[in-house]
Amino acid sequence: MKIHEYQGKELLRSFDVPVPRGHPAFTQREAIEAAQRLGGKAWVVKAQIHAGGRGKGGGVKLARSIDEVGALADQMLGMQLVTHQTGPHGQQVRRLLIEEGADIAKEYYVAVLTDRATQKVVLMGSSEGGMDIEQVAHDTPEKIIKVFVDPLAGLGAAQAGELARGIGVPPASQAQAASLLRNLYRCFMETDATLTEINPLIVEGNGRLEALDAKFNFDDNALYRHPEIVAYRDLDEEDAAEIEAGKFGLSYISLEGNIGCLVNGAGLAMATMDTIKLFGGEPANFLDVGGGASAEKVTEAFKIMLRNRNVKGILVNIFGGIMRCDTIAEGVIAACRAVNLTVPLVVRMKGTNEHLGKQQLAQSGLPIISADTMAEAATKIVAAVR
Ligand code: ADP
Ligand code: MG
Repeated sequence: MKIHEYQGKELLRSFDVPVPRGHPAFTQREAIEAAQRLGGKAWVVKAQIHAGGRGKGGGVKLARSIDEVGALADQMLGMQLVTHQTGPHGQQVRRLLIEEGADIAKEYYVAVLTDRATQKVVLMGSSEGGMDIEQVAHDTPEKIIKVFVDPLAGLGAAQAGELARGIGVPPASQAQAASLLRNLYRCFMETDATLTEINPLIVEGNGRLEALDAKFNFDDNALYRHPEIVAYRDLDEEDAAEIEAGKFGLSYISLEGNIGCLVNGAGLAMATMDTIKLFGGEPANFLDVGGGASAEKVTEAFKIMLRNRNVKGILVNIFGGIMRCDTIAEGVIAACRAVNLTVPLVVRMKGTNEHLGKQQLAQSGLPIISADTMAEAATKIVAAVR
């Protein structure tokens, strides 16, 4: 699960990581009131969407007067903000963060995340803050510094100091940096985050450090013990089909192609998408119906897939283990009737009661194309959508 920058900054503040003063705003009036409450001479109006790269896309702007805050708020609220992380359609801006303008002397990058290769938590930093970190990692990997954390010992002062020095924090600010980084690590651990990223972390003219941006990803499997984080969830930022699928216990992810896939088991679902691509097609979604797929669940899965206008055909690929093929066949037949299926459907099933399942499909009178191997199934669905 992701959250907005202003929510991330609330979390950081509660872990004693300094952030600028600021207030969220949902309307132009609230934006103006927020700026008045903050006082000062410069404000930053920041679009709140669950994607980075807002600065370059026109979603972070400096205002020198309250009137300007009002004008920028009016301009940003409701706009479709396109960044390199949103995809070409962008994301609609519904919330803003009005923040005091910071006096930036230098921008750094710091993040705490899980490193899959070493299976450890890693504290990562760079002197090249404020930029696209993937670009820095690609062009100048030597400018990224990593410190691996022993889970029992936690992040010690020496290690935190090593990173602060490594990224070039000025000596006078290094002690503050080390304590900030340890607080960031604590925040990561205690909220069950999988990523906490500050880009940029800044040193101000007076030497003080501050988190100017905040990005969090949380482990969905740990959300049950964090009601305070679940409360931050913003459904407007999530894919409607994925939310709907979640209600029925289906794991669904929207993709760009035109072949809908319904599979049991995440591994088989991945292999099915690979096979479709291998045979020249493009999957429209990832969908794992799970172990106990009832006729109702399969029907909902069909409805969700078909809501996507790009879908020109569906491939069902089932391994019948505990879940029997005849049960799945019943589900598929019921679903086809319920949704009045008009696009081609290829079904491949293997395993328990395979023959019974195939017989039911053949006798259903529905124009279902049957396939025996994955290659055959992929070839048939790719041909059918052409
Ligand atoms: P994004 O990463 O989505 O582009 P950021 O929050 O990192 O958004 O903002 C982009 C840039 O805007 C920052 O690198 C910083 O230079 C500037 N900026 C952001 N917030 C402030 C602020 N409160 N005061 C001054 N400059 C800011
Ligand atoms: Mg940023």
